[in-house]
Amino acid sequence: MTELRLGVSACLFGQPVRYDGSAKESAAVTERFAPHVTWVPICPEVEQGMPIPRPPIRLEQHPEQIKLIEYKDSGTDFMDVMTEFSASRAKALAGEGLSGYVFKATSPSCGPGDAGLFTPEGDRIENRDGVFAAAVRAAIPNLPMVCEEDLESAAGRENFLARCEAYESLQHAREGRLLLTEFHRRWWIFFHAHSASSGEALGELAEAQQVDAYAEIFFRETTTPPSREDHQRALEWAQFELTPVTTPHTRFRMTGVVGEYAKGQMTLRTAVETLRDRAAESQLVSYTQDAYLWPSAARLVEYEAL
Ligand code: SF4
Repeated sequence: MTELRLGVSACLFGQPVRYDGSAKESAAVTERFAPHVTWVPICPEVEQGMPIPRPPIRLEQHPEQIKLIEYKDSGTDFMDVMTEFSASRAKALAGEGLSGYVFKATSPSCGPGDAGLFTPEGDRIENRDGVFAAAVRAAIPNLPMVCEEDLESAAGRENFLARCEAYESLQHAREGRLLLTEFHRRWWIFFHAHSASSGEALGELAEAQQVDAYAEIFFRETTTPPSREDHQRALEWAQFELTPVTTPHTRFRMTGVVGEYAKGQMTLRTAVETLRDRAAESQLVSYTQDAYLWPSAARLVEYEAL
């Protein structure tokens, strides 16, 4: 596994680029993920030419259009200039090998689906992508995108990292360096933890080497981190897959592991390490590359709290 290359809102990276000259450092970004990630910090407002400090802006619904407006002071509308800048910057980013992006929550430029759209009087009408976040979503389809608040829980951090690793691996399939069927084999248990119903369609797309259609389903269905019940289902699947090559004693032990996990008496890390020891004993080569049973070091740390 190579080091992940992820985009990040520069203020979350600790750069003092916000409208008031402050930063909004995220511990997940600067501490927890730091050993495993190459960050690409971007502040679209500053790169576009806005000064630090600057008056705050927000998205406002007007009769003819949505404005990105300096609502407290000049009333200047930055929508056209920011839209043009964002499209061009996002297009360039698409060639920089990103596997995910951590955006600042609620920002009218960076917010991933949670930027407020307001009336001119200041009433919030709906949540939507910030202008730059929307451009990145359009330029890099299926790129895993979260806000820093999604990384406050172990489940959120693990799920985001897994999706970024999967995104990078799917790029290899897209480039012909990995068969999609092999990707499917490695990520099947992870996917099964998220969706018990879309697996058949996904398998058919893997057989047909339809990478784009496959990616669309894979990333849509894995957005929300699995619950304990979901992980139980995935562990049961792993146990079932290993059953033909295990002894009755081993099967009995594996059933006990899944049961203890389901009751909250065992962490996901302990459950997975026990199951994968069984897989290793059985010399199941394909399982030693399974992304759920053999998570990366960064994800295994998060498994301790799941
Ligand atoms: S949220 Fe985005 S635009 Fe605002 S300061 Fe942070 S990086 Fe810059």
